[in-house]
Order: sequence, then structure tokens, then C-alpha cells
Amino acid sequence: MIDWSTKKILVAEDEDMNYFLIQETLRKYDVTLFRATTGTEAISIFKENLDINLILMDIKMPEINGYEATKIIKSIKNVPIIAQTAYTPTGKQNEIKLAGFDDFITKPIRIKELVTLIEKYL
Ligand SMILES: [Mg+2]
Repeated sequence: MIDWSTKKILVAEDEDMNYFLIQETLRKYDVTLFRATTGTEAISIFKENLDINLILMDIKMPEINGYEATKIIKSIKNVPIIAQTAYTPTGKQNEIKLAGFDDFITKPIRIKELVTLIEKYL
């Protein structure tokens, strides 16, 4: 059984509605959430909070996209990073693995799938 209350998750998501869905889903788990709205911000929040346990990374982010931000963050520390993608054909799944993501979730995000995936990496 995971003690979510001791965990920190960074959600890198530029679209408010997508972020609010994740925030609402995770509310009952009492986890500490950080939000970044650009790739640059995701990197800086992670640098300031190296004890973050997991990152949910939108691929399409302003300034620095999710692929680049993930490469930079992974070069700092091997924190689990789950890609959030709008569309994940087989070719793109390989691209995601090569980019260093640990896993991916396809939007629109289903609550049960999200929680299962987070529990796998926390
Ligand atoms: Mg986006």
C-alpha cells in the first residue's frame, strides 16, 4: 500500500482543463502536486525539488517540448517520467521510449488507468 501523502508529483501540462482533471483525480490521494505550464518551468521546478517522485509530462509543451524537457530532467536524476500524449500510434510509442520516458498515457486520460500507472512508479 502506497502512502501517497509522502509523495510529490510534478504535472507538466499547459492546458488548464487537462491539468484540472488530473488534479481532481488525485485530490483524494492527498499527494503533493506541482504544476508546470512550460517545459522550461518543468525543468526549473524539478531542479528546485529533487525529491519529486514522479513526473507526468505532456509532450506538447511551450518553450521546451516534453521530449527535450525529459532528456534534460533525466540527465539530472533518473526520476520516473510518464508521457501524456494526445495520440499514440505504434511508431510514436517507440519514439517515446527512445526519448527516455518510462511509460505513457494517452489522452483523454482515464482515471483508473492514470491511478494504476502512477501506483506502478511511486
Ligand atoms: Mg500541451
